[in-house]
Amino acid sequence: MFEVVIGLEVHVQLNTKTKLFCSCPTSFNHRQNSNTCPTCLALPGALPVLNKAVVEKSVMFGTAVNATVNRTSYFDRKSYFYPDSPSAYQITQLYTPIVEHGALQIDFEDGTHKVIRINRAHIEADAGKNIHEGDVSKVDLNRAGTPLLEIVSEPDMRSSEEVILYLKKLHAIVRYLDISDANMQEGSFRVDVNVSIRPKGDEKLYTRVEIKNINSFRFIQKAIEIEVARQIEAWEDGVYDEEIYQETRLFDQARQETRSMRGKEEAADYRYFPEPDLLKVVVDDAMYATFSKIPELPDEKRKRFVDAYGMNEYNASVITSSLEMAHYFEAMMQEGISAKNATTWLSVELQGRFGGEVNIENSPVNAKTLGTLVKRIEDQTLSGKAAKEVLDYLMEHDEDVDAVIDKLGLKQVSDTGAIEQLVNEILAANPDKVQEYHNGKEKLFGFFVGQVMKASKGSANPQAVNDILKSKLS
Ligand code: ADP
Ligand code: MG
Ligand code: ZN
Repeated sequence: MFEVVIGLEVHVQLNTKTKLFCSCPTSFNHRQNSNTCPTCLALPGALPVLNKAVVEKSVMFGTAVNATVNRTSYFDRKSYFYPDSPSAYQITQLYTPIVEHGALQIDFEDGTHKVIRINRAHIEADAGKNIHEGDVSKVDLNRAGTPLLEIVSEPDMRSSEEVILYLKKLHAIVRYLDISDANMQEGSFRVDVNVSIRPKGDEKLYTRVEIKNINSFRFIQKAIEIEVARQIEAWEDGVYDEEIYQETRLFDQARQETRSMRGKEEAADYRYFPEPDLLKVVVDDAMYATFSKIPELPDEKRKRFVDAYGMNEYNASVITSSLEMAHYFEAMMQEGISAKNATTWLSVELQGRFGGEVNIENSPVNAKTLGTLVKRIEDQTLSGKAAKEVLDYLMEHDEDVDAVIDKLGLKQVSDTGAIEQLVNEILAANPDKVQEYHNGKEKLFGFFVGQVMKASKGSANPQAVNDILKSKLS
């Protein structure tokens, strides 16, 4: 039996207005190479000047993961040549990063937790982009020099499930802190996955393979499963030592395989050395005091929700997995509804109706409206089924819930007189079935309920139908 061992390196693009070492804007949806200057173009003689906001956001992150924030840290130069890096080196932090020794808790569906250690988080500059068009390659340096925080975990994860839980929690934290928009599709939350296997019980780490730049949670899960299968197969075929070596692979989604990108024989000699053009990074007392005061994080919010609303841990962690969802939920609760119903109608019914570009932030149905809809189920105005119809309608029309209920004629009939009349009609129309029921065929009760509901066009309150049928049949 094998155990899977995984450590992650996540590059989070910090949402500063300007780049890491110059005052160029970080928005790169502009004309190619327009957001550049001598510094980020690496023209000779141009010197970097550190953006203070990057340091402040790093302090916030370090605090959020209970890490040591080094009051003094340093930049280093990592040499490599690639067309999208005009300086032929990257400025990063190797020897003393700004953040070290943190931890992040992941939450399983059964209510248990696990702590994943964070080895470090360091500041570094992003590269530009190579654009390949037919047989022409172009370089766009708008992104060159954008600030990244690289967050490196210890190899503490043991399954793709744990990886996804870790990434979702990390994603939530940087969004709660508002230090990154963490948009995976746009590349502001990029994940490198390091995967190895070992016989269960073995403590030593085996050879790791790095899979780079996979841009969705679903693909990350798939890539891990495929890479683990490749390594186990090599082991079982007795060719592990030949076939599994430290290398960078990429995940080919179309072919459902990982493929070698850089072999170990080509592994670059990065020739790291302390960056001579920059001063040490100092987090002074005033900065530390200000930026170590951070807003409520997902774990605290989850605990508060469990206490305040009596939710179970897992539902609370689903709702607090994003700040937008947590805010939406709390606004729904203003309508005086149960947390359980609010959770279901938000996380299953509303989210299940999203698609394409529609999400919580631009939801066509706001929290007050959805809260009111749930309220109408709880006060028996609507059946659950009718409420779904109302929600379908509200997804397309910005109208008042109660007006829509009237308009669609979905108000549930709880008036016992009206239901009693329907029950009488159904029983009178089916004398043979009533006889069979009295002879012991109790299953027919469901048939009668169905007939009454049908006769009411679904509008009768099912509880009332049940009660009245029971008394009439007894
Ligand atoms: P490097 O600096 O060469 O990239 P690190 O020691 O920083 O190497 O590790 C990079 C990532 O790989 C970390 O997230 C770490 O947890 C992970 N890692 C290291 N060894 C293993 C292993 N044997 N199996 C899986 N992941 C590993
Ligand atoms: Mg690394
Ligand atoms: Zn610049």
